[in-house]
Amino acid sequence: MKLSFKNYFLELIHPFSISSNTRTETPIVLTQLESRGLIGYGEASLPPYLEESQESVNQFLKGLDFSRMDDTVPIDTILDFINTGYGNAFAKASLDIAIHDLFGKIQNKPLYKTLGSNPERMPITSCTLGMASEELLEQKVREAERFSVLKVKLGGAEDKAIIRTIRKFSSKPLYIDANQGWSDPIHALDMITWLSDQGALLIEQPLPKGMRSEQAWLYDRSPLPLIADESCQNESDISGLKGLFSGINIKLMKCGGIREGLKMIHTARNLDMKIMIGCMNESSCAIMAAAALAPQCDYVDLDGPFLIKNNPFEDPEIREGKIVLSERPGLGLIPQ
Ligand code: MG
Repeated sequence: MKLSFKNYFLELIHPFSISSNTRTETPIVLTQLESRGLIGYGEASLPPYLEESQESVNQFLKGLDFSRMDDTVPIDTILDFINTGYGNAFAKASLDIAIHDLFGKIQNKPLYKTLGSNPERMPITSCTLGMASEELLEQKVREAERFSVLKVKLGGAEDKAIIRTIRKFSSKPLYIDANQGWSDPIHALDMITWLSDQGALLIEQPLPKGMRSEQAWLYDRSPLPLIADESCQNESDISGLKGLFSGINIKLMKCGGIREGLKMIHTARNLDMKIMIGCMNESSCAIMAAAALAPQCDYVDLDGPFLIKNNPFEDPEIREGKIVLSERPGLGLIPQ
């Protein structure tokens, strides 16, 4: 097998703000794993506020020798080969995705079938509105017309004003992501109660991840489901979140790829916790990998390709607010 990779920058349609920063592009690394004339595509998305970068991903990928790897071994053998050592979850995710895509092509089977997902159970996906001026929010609401639920980033002083502005233009249900932005649990509870009356359906990561006892207090009182994002990296975190959150947000970048994502789904289900599957700013590549798992989840937040101008692959199709899974083998991507 032959591994190649290149750095790329996803250009955002609108500068994107969350409670900690604003940016106009997102660095990514695109990976390709080739065998028998077939190409498996992978992607690491690297927003600047996280530990990994294009440099660290390049470094990790350069250290792996695929030339003696053979695609006739079981897929788990190859996934074990890339999962040696601690850390580098984003780099590992880029390979895990490429390996799954390549094996799907070798077996001539769409990834969602291999993962046991039923497309009829695909939830609607949300589309994120970053913080913005009133004029821009109106435009963003219009651009999100195809989506039947909106995700809003809160966690600052203007939270209520932002929601009131959105409510001038849209009555769609809302997913709220506070990105750890509320540090006072009483304020968080007040906000959640108010947001519940405003048509919010869930709250992602209300408090900083270190505030575990406050999080348990909030969970006992919250009228809305609370979903762990920054508090939940991979499968090993989930059991410790029972009693603090109603559910978890799986992101392939955080956890290291599809195999770990599937494990997280099984663990969360066994603990009777809700499951959201989300994303960073990602192209169709990582999004279609997550979408293959999405029918096994309760909430889907896979809007990455719809927020960028230069997707290296064709955009996923959206029908009735849901991502349409491809019947082509692997991820079904079409480079453009
Ligand atoms: Mg989040």
